[in-house]
Amino acid sequence: MDELTLNNGQKIPQLGLGVFLVQDATDLKRSVADALKDGYRHFDTAAIYHNEAWVGEALAESDVKREDLFITSKVWDSNTTYDETIAAFKESLKKLQTNYLDLYLIHWPSEGYTEKWRAMEDLYNDGQIKSIGVSNFEKPHLDKLLASAKVKPAVDQIETHPYFQQKELHDYLTSLNIAHEAWGPLGQGKSGVMEDATLKQIADAHKKSVAQVILRWHLQRNIIVIPKSIHAERIAQNIDVFDFKLSDDEMNAIAGIDKNRRGSEDPNDEEWLK
Ligand code: NAD
Repeated sequence: MDELTLNNGQKIPQLGLGVFLVQDATDLKRSVADALKDGYRHFDTAAIYHNEAWVGEALAESDVKREDLFITSKVWDSNTTYDETIAAFKESLKKLQTNYLDLYLIHWPSEGYTEKWRAMEDLYNDGQIKSIGVSNFEKPHLDKLLASAKVKPAVDQIETHPYFQQKELHDYLTSLNIAHEAWGPLGQGKSGVMEDATLKQIADAHKKSVAQVILRWHLQRNIIVIPKSIHAERIAQNIDVFDFKLSDDEMNAIAGIDKNRRGSEDPNDEEWLK
């Protein structure tokens, strides 16, 4: 598994398992167990997914040592103040059956996130979180945060896939030395990207699936990916992307299919920003 080094020196496995919308304990625990068997060590959950406790159970039942795991969770919008952020973090720790998180993110740039960030900084300085970051932050949100932050976010987790490549924000994050993490890396199974003719052609040439080509493309852009699946064969397929390389021509061809089309709500539409 390839690792990236974050701006604070911490390492992150570049590929992990996402568990958004997995609402069944059996499915979730089985998919985490399958993933661990396949070599996944990085797991991405959030308080609002209401499945942290099952992730915690599945990880506690495995033989893998805590220090070999990379666990991410996120604080939701309903926790707005400093104290609420600390309390939400403690709740996540309890559910995940651990005494620290590898990465904790502000899930969405809702109003008051600079106060949340102060709580995250204190937890980070106290060693209870190895790295802190943000999610769904666009340039204006990042700029506002950086104006008062004492600790720079290590990661921004944002929607990214071949039909929504985030070229400008990617370059901005790179210039700030903030790692770009892709959510919805496969277009959430609804963007139409899996049927794209260019991707199919490249996949055939490498005898890989379209999903594998998409994940490989992210990795070669230095992006962290957390594809979600609850199916054993797809979980195995999604991590089997370290034995081939896309050429510059193939990377350029994929750059050319961008439709700049989001699949979800636009964080730039946050009322308070206007
Ligand atoms: P995704 O792009 O990972 O797509 C998942 C879907 O793709 C699956 O449900 C399945 O239909 C399909 N799929 C997966 N592997 C496949 C394969 N090998 N072949 C064919 N189809 C395959 O979408 P996602 O789950 O929304 O995003 C990944 C993770 O990102 C989430 O699970 C979650 O952890 C995180 N996330 C974060 C935010 C945020 O606001 N920070 C939002 C959404 C998701």
